[in-house]
Amino acid sequence: MSKQKIPYKTYLTEEEIPKAWYNIRADMKTDHRPILNPGTHKPITAEELAPVFCDELIKQELNDTDRFIEIPEPIRNFYKMYRPSPLVRAYCLEEALKTPAKIYYKYEGGNTSGSHKLNSAIAQAYYAKEQGLRGVTTETGAGQWGTALSMACGYFGIDLKVFMVKISAQQKPYRKAVMETYGATVTPSPSDTTEIGRKILADDPETGGSLGCAISEAVEAAVTTDGYRYVLGSVLNQVLLHQSIIGLETKTAFEKIGEYPDTIIGCAGGGSNLGGLMSAFMADKLAGKSASRFIAVEPASCPSLTRGKFAYDFCDTGMVTPLAKMYTLGATFIPSANHAGGLRYHGMSPILSQLYHDGYIDEARAVAQTDVFEAATLFARVEGTLPAPESSHAILVAIDEALKCKQTGEEMTILFGLSGTGYFDLGAYMQYNEGNMTDHIPTDEELERGFSAIPQVD
Ligand SMILES: *Cc1c(COP(=O)(O)O)cnc(C)c1O
Repeated sequence: MSKQKIPYKTYLTEEEIPKAWYNIRADMKTDHRPILNPGTHKPITAEELAPVFCDELIKQELNDTDRFIEIPEPIRNFYKMYRPSPLVRAYCLEEALKTPAKIYYKYEGGNTSGSHKLNSAIAQAYYAKEQGLRGVTTETGAGQWGTALSMACGYFGIDLKVFMVKISAQQKPYRKAVMETYGATVTPSPSDTTEIGRKILADDPETGGSLGCAISEAVEAAVTTDGYRYVLGSVLNQVLLHQSIIGLETKTAFEKIGEYPDTIIGCAGGGSNLGGLMSAFMADKLAGKSASRFIAVEPASCPSLTRGKFAYDFCDTGMVTPLAKMYTLGATFIPSANHAGGLRYHGMSPILSQLYHDGYIDEARAVAQTDVFEAATLFARVEGTLPAPESSHAILVAIDEALKCKQTGEEMTILFGLSGTGYFDLGAYMQYNEGNMTDHIPTDEELERGFSAIPQVD
């Protein structure tokens, strides 16, 4: 097919939306190490997880054998309202860069929540409803996950209690308004509604809160309220499973236009959008059917893959969750306050961590946020879409790779994940436009402080 014949956008039909998620663990050469009970350091059991998580989601979390898991009809029906998402050929960006590379991106920002997070939120809300639960609790920092989950819980008619980091709730009142419109209760955290919240407030009444504190409150609220469980929007195996819909759709779209990506790039916070985008292509690589390169992009201010340790660690700053073997900066690591560009999580999905450790993810790159916003601005101007700061990490590396092709003359096919819209991050854009954005790259000494809190497990 000649270059001109490939459309700007490739959509699938409703019938082509995947009917099953892909579970990459069934194909991994080395599975990730088991999740451990933090008290006994023994692999955690479904029974131990049952008071905290929904039963069906626990099964998915522990499933390392079924390659495909059928998507229940009610979830597929919801997907049909905002999926398939388009695979876009970035002709205008190619032209601006004068590169021989072909650049594609999969855009997940076209729903009201503004990101890929809705793909897992709707699945998690569905299983909670099926179990007969009254509701779920969660935490949210900037608000993307809370917003996606409020849409999902609103749709299935179950309650949602969101603990939103207090400082974010004050800075982003519109996010709270969207969540409340969909029926969620939003509590700035720390709050006086939980024991842990009251304790933190007693120690420091003026605190603006943190994600770790919000997680602790959300978990406490779930286990102490009848008919509630706790849900999480990234990092976990079940979330990567649900997000595989991104990669499955992308692969089908590529088949339609007779193309295949040589390089696949995604931003990585907890790892769910990259894990989803790469899923179907990594399956080919694991089967020896492709030699595509995979690049994970992270902020230089929160560099878990490039500078972290591959170790068992807590998944939350409050140190109440089970232990996962992953690349981590230590659960107590908090990125510098001047970091506006998202992706602030201290650890990385155990699946992605293992694939990176084993060399299937070829490279991780850490980038500075001012460079990220420069790439975001170029992208917005030539491609029209205002990208989320998180997604713009992937844009920056896609541009760098395309510029390399200019030098070598290589007609490489590049795919990156545009995980969300930038509409909810205008404060960060303002900061960049006014010249007030700076970069903070942690020193080795700063990282050592986080590493020293990593628990000792064999
Ligand atoms: C939450 C979010 C991310 C980071 O999370 P992952 O689990 O690493 O995907 C990336 N992009 C957007 C737009 C997000 O909202």
